[in-house]
Amino acid sequence: MGAKAKTEDKKSLSIEEKIRALYNLQLVDSKIDKIKILRGELPLEVQDLEDEIAGLETRIDNYKGEILTLETSIANKKTEIKESEALQLKYNEQLKNIKNNREFDSLTKELEFQTLEIELSNKKIKGFVSDIEAKNIIIEDAISKLNELKLNLEDKKKELDGIVGETQKEEEALRAKSEKISENIEERLLIAYKRIRGNARNGLSIAPIERGACGGCYNKIPPQKQLDIKSRKKIIVCEYCGRILVDNDINLSLEEVEAKRIAEQELAKEAKPKRKTRKAAAKK
Ligand SMILES: [Zn+2]
Repeated sequence: MGAKAKTEDKKSLSIEEKIRALYNLQLVDSKIDKIKILRGELPLEVQDLEDEIAGLETRIDNYKGEILTLETSIANKKTEIKESEALQLKYNEQLKNIKNNREFDSLTKELEFQTLEIELSNKKIKGFVSDIEAKNIIIEDAISKLNELKLNLEDKKKELDGIVGETQKEEEALRAKSEKISENIEERLLIAYKRIRGNARNGLSIAPIERGACGGCYNKIPPQKQLDIKSRKKIIVCEYCGRILVDNDINLSLEEVEAKRIAEQELAKEAKPKRKTRKAAAKK
């Protein structure tokens, strides 16, 4: 791969060291994941409540704005009524000095018209008042719901703060550790690691071999592949889930692994000659 030159400026780790760094990064990141699981859905619940409260406050503001508009409309209608009444006064004055029937008819018609106008305005005002009453009831309901939500939010926040407080120091230390390990891992691998982690439901990007299977997806790994993984000469991914596979003893050197294997063999020999004892020895 053409990335060789680039690989070497990152403290030129051997493949084995790279795998080990990834494995240790995974251990730390999995601990951070566990803390997050402990917090559970609380951060989301707090966010949801905050959104709901903001939405409700906007709705209340909107209703208040609508009420203001209605009050302006009422004031306008009242002004119109006063104008009509002034006109009626004027027409009544004029009625006292009419010169002919035509003038009388015209003034009477005007008076009737203004009476109708006043009736219409009063009807409109009544409508506006009942609209305001209805909106005030809605606002009252919304406010009591809002208070309820705010109390609920306070509780959830307290609960979350408590959990965060308990685990904060631990999480900070883990994050610092994660960053420090990441510094030693080349960009390309780190990106792959994060991508696999993001896709995996359990956040597992580096999977150990467990009973001959991938520790991430539990599909069997062929024996030859298991040997390749244990030899630590190249980065091998699970063909089913794409996770990077490691042997469980990655934090031991190959010499130490060999010594461990021999010791286990000796133990097995000393114990009952049954095949089964190997398993018991491996537990040690
Ligand atoms: Zn797998």
